[in-house]
Order: sequence, then structure tokens, then C-alpha cells
Amino acid sequence: MLIRRATLLDGTMTDIRVGARIDEVGDGLAAHRGEDVFDAAGKTVLPGLHDHHVHLRSAASALESVSVGPPAVYTKDQLAQALSTATPGADGWIRAVGYHESVAGELDRAALDAVRPGVPVRVQHRSGALWILNSAALGVLGLAEHTDGRLRASDRWSKALARRETDVAALGHRLTACGVTGVTDATPDLDADDMVPLLVAHRRGEFAPRLFFLSPAKKILHDDRLDLDALTGWIAGHHGEDRPVAVHCVTAAQLVVTIAALRAAGGHPLDRIEHAAVVADDTVADLADLGVTVVTQPNFVAERGDQYLDEIPAAEHPQLWRVASLLKANVRVALSTDMPFGRGDPWAAMRAAVHRTTPSGAVLGPDERVSPREALTMFFGHPDRPGAARAVATGEPGDLCVLAEPPGAVLAELDAGMVAATITGGHVAYVAG
Ligand SMILES: [Zn+2]
Repeated sequence: MLIRRATLLDGTMTDIRVGARIDEVGDGLAAHRGEDVFDAAGKTVLPGLHDHHVHLRSAASALESVSVGPPAVYTKDQLAQALSTATPGADGWIRAVGYHESVAGELDRAALDAVRPGVPVRVQHRSGALWILNSAALGVLGLAEHTDGRLRASDRWSKALARRETDVAALGHRLTACGVTGVTDATPDLDADDMVPLLVAHRRGEFAPRLFFLSPAKKILHDDRLDLDALTGWIAGHHGEDRPVAVHCVTAAQLVVTIAALRAAGGHPLDRIEHAAVVADDTVADLADLGVTVVTQPNFVAERGDQYLDEIPAAEHPQLWRVASLLKANVRVALSTDMPFGRGDPWAAMRAAVHRTTPSGAVLGPDERVSPREALTMFFGHPDRPGAARAVATGEPGDLCVLAEPPGAVLAELDAGMVAATITGGHVAYVAG
């Protein structure tokens, strides 16, 4: 197709011919016979956004679930209200997501039975690694003897619990409406049963964004089981087959061990650190030195910032969800949302990177603020090289995002509501209502 009168982020006005790749960028391109023409009318055209760390199945499930954690639910009464009024899905289950102990402490079977007996209820913890079921749900699963109803991701039952038919088409639409043309599913230990339905939906055009999977080169660490030798061996094994690794680091200790393991095993230029939620001052230079790409989520500042301010010692606040200090130290950084554990709006993540504002309006880590243009560019990364931005240029993938405003307004607002059209592989995947 031919896009006429596009304004690029640097202010250049141009026409763009786009297929699977961007075929031509230049002034006065003539439409071929039968070619679709889209008039951008001087508005902004960007590379399509790539969300470098999401969990698609969980996200599709979350679309049909009731949210029972902050910011939707803060108190025990609000939790009871949300669960007692929730409508069961087509399969008769009530699914709740996003639970955190700050709402009503450690939930168990009895607490759920008191609020919503009779109907199977499952509440997923915000971490994604714990479910709490009521008696009706335990009965359906043949687990009636399970006394407290708390099932962990490491339990053998969790896979059956997690796997269910989900509406990936609705999720795909939500993504393209935000200008997202590609996603990387960061869920560890995905198997063919997890990936094939998504790939089929993508091939059929039901799920337009391009799909990438980190599994099996993704590792989650646990603070109580940090084993430097085992991690070093795992990394060396992947590198031996020329595969980069992605290591999930949400605490300072996890990052220190990961850096030591990468030093011992030797780095791969495409290695990734997921989250890097806490980065101590003296590890910033290590990240630059190792050449890893940090795939982080500043949106958690906007979503959970007040909790961090309450619960984490003030001296550690500057270490949380860093962005600017990493860039300044020449660490490669890409942004992502961690949908559905973070809200899946990349524009909200960009605003969080620019303003660092918590829900109550405090600013967390003011030195980590970046410019709107930097924030936007950190969503342009190539799927396999998240730290290297794509451009609107010949030969780049044919994935574009058309905004309803000129570049100045786009950068000032960074709002998903400005997305006018999304193009994947030269085809229109979304046009605003
Ligand atoms: Zn994640």
C-alpha cells in the first residue's frame, strides 16, 4: 500500500510504500494500479510499537476476568463487592486477577467461600504464580481435600488451571488499537500447546501483531534458591548453541548473581535482563560492560509507585525501575509493559518513563526521567534486538503506526487515543473508529 503525506518524527514529510517491508520512502510516489492509498494528511507515521515483554495467554484470560487488586480494588470490602457481583464466564467460573495481600491479607478457600460460595471462583495473585480457589472450584478440579485452596505455579495442577480457551482475537485488537505491531511473549517454559494456537491465530489474521517467544531461553530466579554455578552452566549451555538468554531479575540479589554468571559464562550480544526492577549503583556499569539489553517496565512506577514509596526504604528508591541512568551509562534499554501483570498500554509506559508519577501524584526516581522521544524510541526495537530501534526507512519491516496528530502533539501527549491506524506487514490491521 501507499501512504501519502506522512510526517516522520523528525518533521520530514514523505510518502511511504509498504508491503512485508518498507519498499520506498520518498516524495511524490505514484500509486500503482490497484494499490491501496492511505492519506496520512500530514500526521505522524512511526515504526509500529513492539512490546518486548508480555504474557499473551494470561493477558487474553485477563480480558475476561475481574480485577481484584490495586488500582481497581484496595480493601476487603471492595474485594467482597467485586467477587459477589462478578458474572461467571461461559464455563461457569469466576476468574479474578491481580490480587495482592495489601487488599485483604493472605486469601484462602474459607475467605472466598464466605464471599462467593456455590460458583467456582479462582483468584490469581498479582505475581501470576499463585491461585486461590474456593470450595466449589476445588470440587470441580477434584481437589476438595486441598484444605487452604492455595495452589502455586510449581504445583502439578497449575498447568491445567492456567490452560483454557481464550479470545486471542480480542487481545490482538486491543494491541493494534495501541499501535502495537509485534509482541514478545516472555512466559518461561511455554510448550507447543501454548504457542501453536497463537501462531495459528496470527497466520489466519485473527491476531495481527507479529509473535516472538523467549521460551526456552528464559530463566526466572528465586532469591531463596540463587545458585551461581547452576545459572552459569545454564547460560553457557545456551551460548554454546549460539542462543542468547533472558534472565528475569526483580531484586538486587538476582541481578548481582546474574551479572556474576554472565561474567563467568561469557556474554552473548543479544542477552537480555528482564525487568531489572532494582539496580544498585555499582551494577549499572556492569550492565554496560556486559552489553546486555535491559527490557524494563517503568509503567510499574505509575501503577504501583505509592506502594513502593510506602514499603521500600527511601535509600533504595533511586534504584527502582531505572531508565535514564542506564541510557547515560550506555546500557541498551527497551521498554515493555509485562501485560497483564502491568497494564498493557505502551503509551502509559512511555508517560511513566517521562514523568515517573505515582497514582497519588508523587514522583518516584526523578533522575530516571527520559525525554518523550527517548521513551517512544524504546518501543521501536527489533524483536530480536530490542535495544536497536527500527526506523521508517527502506528495507525495515512493513509495520507502521499512524497517529492522528503531528509529531509535536504526539510527543507532548504520548496517548494511545491518538493512534489512527496500525499497519502490519503492509496490511491495515486497525483503523480508529
Ligand atoms: Zn513478565
